[in-house]
Amino acid sequence: MVLRSLLAVALLVAAPLLSTGAANAANAASAGAATDAAPGAPAARACSGYVALTYDDGPTPQFTRPLLSALNAAGARATFFDMGSRVQQYPDLARATTAAGMWIANHSWSHPYLTRISAAEVTRELSNTQNAIRNATGQTPTLFRPPYGDTNAAVQAEARRQGMAQVLWSVDTQDWNNASTDAIVRAATSANAGGIVLMHDGNQRTVDAVPRIVRGLAAKNLCPGRIDSTGRVVAP
Ligand SMILES: [Zn+2]
Repeated sequence: MVLRSLLAVALLVAAPLLSTGAANAANAASAGAATDAAPGAPAARACSGYVALTYDDGPTPQFTRPLLSALNAAGARATFFDMGSRVQQYPDLARATTAAGMWIANHSWSHPYLTRISAAEVTRELSNTQNAIRNATGQTPTLFRPPYGDTNAAVQAEARRQGMAQVLWSVDTQDWNNASTDAIVRAATSANAGGIVLMHDGNQRTVDAVPRIVRGLAAKNLCPGRIDSTGRVVAP
């Protein structure tokens, strides 16, 4: 369904370049890829709710592009909570992330425990990351996730002052803790409507889990969604 809407945008952009036949073939391919949605059915019909897939700690030279490819192939969009220091180091990967239709968000500069550093350091961790992401992608994040989920009222207020809602998670796949692909899939597909799934841009098991997560959610009539600027999970 997401794939269909992405494709619709692509077709709009590419329409002058495509013959009608090519456009029809592309539409048919996309309808085939959409899980059990009837051909021609409204794209939203199969989605009774939305779950946010989130990937922390990137970008990484080894895994960001494979992850983006897997998400695109599954017709899914996800939120990437990137570290500012890595965005500065790999701006091309941050650009690839937004170019692939993903949302990019702030996960601090250097991944500290934010409640254990000074207020001035918290300010810099967040603002330097906003600047790095803006410089790399032209987009300014509206979402922030504290490393380790370590936060307090002051950290949350600083994020809000810098224009970001704080986002934690409802399901931890434990992919940071060496969980198998099976375990990642099982955890992620246990999410309910409105849920936020914690994963990481940093290992192959998480990449391999993508198509099975999207299929498993679709079997529950759930679709990957976007986190809005208030932290709610909504249609992409
Ligand atoms: Zn992290």
